[in-house]
Amino acid sequence: MKIIIIGGVAAGAKAAAKSKRILPDAEVHIYTKDTHVSYSSCGLPYYIAGDFQDWHKLIVRTVDEFEKSGISIHTEHLVTKILPADKKILVKNLREGMCEFVEYDKLIIATGSIPFIPEIKNRDLQNVFRVRTLEDGINIKDAMNKAQNITIVGGGYIAIELIEAFVKNAKNITLIEQAPFILSVFDEDISSLIQTYILENSNNLVKIINEDTVTEFVGEENIHGVLTAKGYGFETDMVILAAGVRPVVDIAKEAGIELGVTGAIKVNSRMQTNIPDIYACGDCVEKINMVSDTPVWVPLGSTANKEGRIAAINACGGVEDFEGILGSAVLRYQTLNISMTGLTEKQARKLGYDAVSVVITKRDKAGYMPEVKNVTLKLIADRRTHKVLGAQAIGCGDADKRVNTVSVGLTSAMKIEDLLDVDLTYAPPFSTSIDILISAARILKSKLN
Ligand SMILES: Cc1cc2nc3c(=O)[nH]c(=O)nc-3n(C[C@H](O)[C@H](O)[C@H](O)COP(=O)(O)OP(=O)(O)OC[C@H]3O[C@@H](n4cnc5c(N)ncnc54)[C@H](O)[C@@H]3O)c2cc1C
Repeated sequence: MKIIIIGGVAAGAKAAAKSKRILPDAEVHIYTKDTHVSYSSCGLPYYIAGDFQDWHKLIVRTVDEFEKSGISIHTEHLVTKILPADKKILVKNLREGMCEFVEYDKLIIATGSIPFIPEIKNRDLQNVFRVRTLEDGINIKDAMNKAQNITIVGGGYIAIELIEAFVKNAKNITLIEQAPFILSVFDEDISSLIQTYILENSNNLVKIINEDTVTEFVGEENIHGVLTAKGYGFETDMVILAAGVRPVVDIAKEAGIELGVTGAIKVNSRMQTNIPDIYACGDCVEKINMVSDTPVWVPLGSTANKEGRIAAINACGGVEDFEGILGSAVLRYQTLNISMTGLTEKQARKLGYDAVSVVITKRDKAGYMPEVKNVTLKLIADRRTHKVLGAQAIGCGDADKRVNTVSVGLTSAMKIEDLLDVDLTYAPPFSTSIDILISAARILKSKLN
């Protein structure tokens, strides 16, 4: 059996390793246009911050380690075509410029996502960066060391992690976000608190411009200025484009592989595409939100790894299903932990739920413990069915612990009543005798009634 995998970061690397474990005699090949495989993009902001110095630490498994386990790695090889009728791919060796056809028995597409580059005049100037690959991270860190004024376009997860990195290095940061607040995937009552926290804890190094867009970069070769639609103009030494990502689906689409409503590759729960013997996983595929049972596109490394494993099991003849996602996510800004799972209130309303929510702030541990901190928790449920729909939590205390508990409940379609007296652990260094999650559930239950 010959298994070909396109892409080798999270989903592709996981699919390759799992395939080889299941079928040790199979020929397993990874083709990637990049120079590295199996690395943690998620760790790039912390490398840029200087939390550790050696970028090699981001590599999960080296090319040598893959080769020793019998997996062939073809770096700097761009797959330009998939030919399902002949069960072949067309590959261009980017080092030597030659093209060749390669046959497969099973094909796993793990082409991931790429940063969305907005229409901005002069966006090709030097010192304008995107954040995706290991090389991007290394280049950004080098440029940051020479820069004082840094502009970030977009205010999502990656932007927040980079603000932390740049503040740690005493840089001045201007962030432009078209929404009323940064982190617009959260509900506004939560994202406004996050924005305020960041501004109040940045040594006056951070400026955030909301409800505006960048229209032009100014400079000859290197960038030295930014202009916005509302007429702001300011100097900058470098720019980070962090305006979201898009699934990489071009070769799949051209081969007749069906895309879903979100524009990502449509797969069933076994990660099969509409074409026999072709599987897809990771950021390039559409997912099912388990709360609403609707198609969504939420590109996360946690999901990519799970899907890579499932794609391999099924490609190797086994049977295992991937039920879907909740969009569970966590990030931090300095000591503020930020986390969410399930639907936000605005998403729930859009989907037709009669969403009711509660937001409370409470200590995360017994008040007399020296390490006690606050957590603000938002819990959302449907008035009609009492089904819990989602949670968002922020605070210097353990926010993600509460959100993870809700995630487990959402997986089994928990109702608010199931949370009222749930038997959570308690001792003073860990929580209060009635945990904030139970307090929120009780208030929300009263509101629902
Ligand atoms: C800075 C940063 C921080 C992040 N932090 C987190 C986090 O904290 N938590 C989290 O869950 N997620 C995080 N993510 C997201 C996470 O990194 C991605 O979800 C994950 O990398 C997706 O893995 P993937 O294998 O599906 O795709 P990708 O990582 O995008 O890899 C796809 C690979 O396929 C290659 N490829 C594409 N097309 C072709 C072709 N035609 N021929 C050959 N090769 C091709 C690409 O070059 C690439 O190497 C972060 C991402 C970034 C950039």
